[in-house]
Amino acid sequence: HARRTEGVDKNVWVEFTQLAADYKAVNLGQGFPDFSPPKFVQEAFCDAVNGGPQMHQYTRAFGHPRLVQSLATFFSRVTGHEIDPLEDVLVTVGAYQALFCAFQALIDEGDEVIIVEPFFDCYQPMVKMVGGKEVYVPLRPKVEGSLSSADWTLSAEELASKFTPRTKAIVINTPNNPLGKVYKTEELQMIADLCIKHDVLCISDEVYEWLTYDGNKHVKIASLPGMWERTITIGSGGKTFSATGWKVGWVISSGRIIKHMKTIFQNCVYHCPTAAQEAVARGFEREAWVCSPSCRRGGYFMIADISSVKVDFNDDSTKDESYDYRFVKWLTKEKGLATIPVSAFYSPEHGKEFDKYVRFCFVKEEATLDAAEQILRKWS
Ligand code: PMP
Ligand code: GLN
Repeated sequence: HARRTEGVDKNVWVEFTQLAADYKAVNLGQGFPDFSPPKFVQEAFCDAVNGGPQMHQYTRAFGHPRLVQSLATFFSRVTGHEIDPLEDVLVTVGAYQALFCAFQALIDEGDEVIIVEPFFDCYQPMVKMVGGKEVYVPLRPKVEGSLSSADWTLSAEELASKFTPRTKAIVINTPNNPLGKVYKTEELQMIADLCIKHDVLCISDEVYEWLTYDGNKHVKIASLPGMWERTITIGSGGKTFSATGWKVGWVISSGRIIKHMKTIFQNCVYHCPTAAQEAVARGFEREAWVCSPSCRRGGYFMIADISSVKVDFNDDSTKDESYDYRFVKWLTKEKGLATIPVSAFYSPEHGKEFDKYVRFCFVKEEATLDAAEQILRKWS
């Protein structure tokens, strides 16, 4: 095997999705809706599939023409920046591949990448696989026992101390998985100032951009002064339209940056499935829906503090694992409720400080949420 496969073989989704299935647990673990997407979204997919022979054949490498046009039109309006559909957009196999192409195209061996914790787990192996060095900085709850994700904040001094002459990029995720935190403009401005000062790229994972709670407005860091040229903004059709299985994602950035991501992409999958891209394009053309309050009922996740829950795990097979991993395994096996351990979203060095939380995905049918509630009530 190649050395790049070493140390990146464990995957929290592979492990815990299988565990939930094995125990037929009520699944509030992996983040996906267990209900159908809205009718017009399903129709968009059917219309795409029935849209003629070309829908079943290859399309343009870097994005189906109708989709890059829809994305450019839509996001030009959102960002106030004129986005060129052919130069500034790349359509990928989910946001996952957008992230992969970003690290492959922009990070060299020895480059440092600042990752804000808690982070979507794949950033770490993706940086490792290109020989980059991850540098972690945690969001910390500034109020003891707080119930709001807004209380998890970055210390400006701590963040500033992580920038060095080797820093190539910082990765942020807003709204955040797993916290549900939506970064405020001031927080993004603080990050932007450091990026500009140190001439660093910002990879901004915004897959949950349409899923903000009332009053919380999603702000794109790319829209702040001086940031368009250095920001790589990543989105997901799966999250936008509650159709995670379609695996259509995208990157929007300056053509100067996208050009290098295209190089990786053309030598990797060449293009993402045509009909799914057509369906996402049709979805965006119904932009009134995307922007309507009806899709802002809430994000995908919340975390719960388990430090006061006393449990005797009585399971030697997990005794070397962190507290939250043991807890989640116990909860799945003994109570039939699947969740995700939050230390999976931390580096090994900070995971120990944050191993008393579990993550619940709540974009689920009422019946699924009721079943979870029953389990919790019966237990308490
Ligand atoms: N980033 C974050 C923060 C996510 O939660 C997900 C969910 N899988 C992804 C990226 C990947 O998105 P996609 O399903 O479009 O590949
Ligand atoms: N983004 C989803 C989550 O965080 C799914 C991740 C995955 O399946 N790899 O749960």
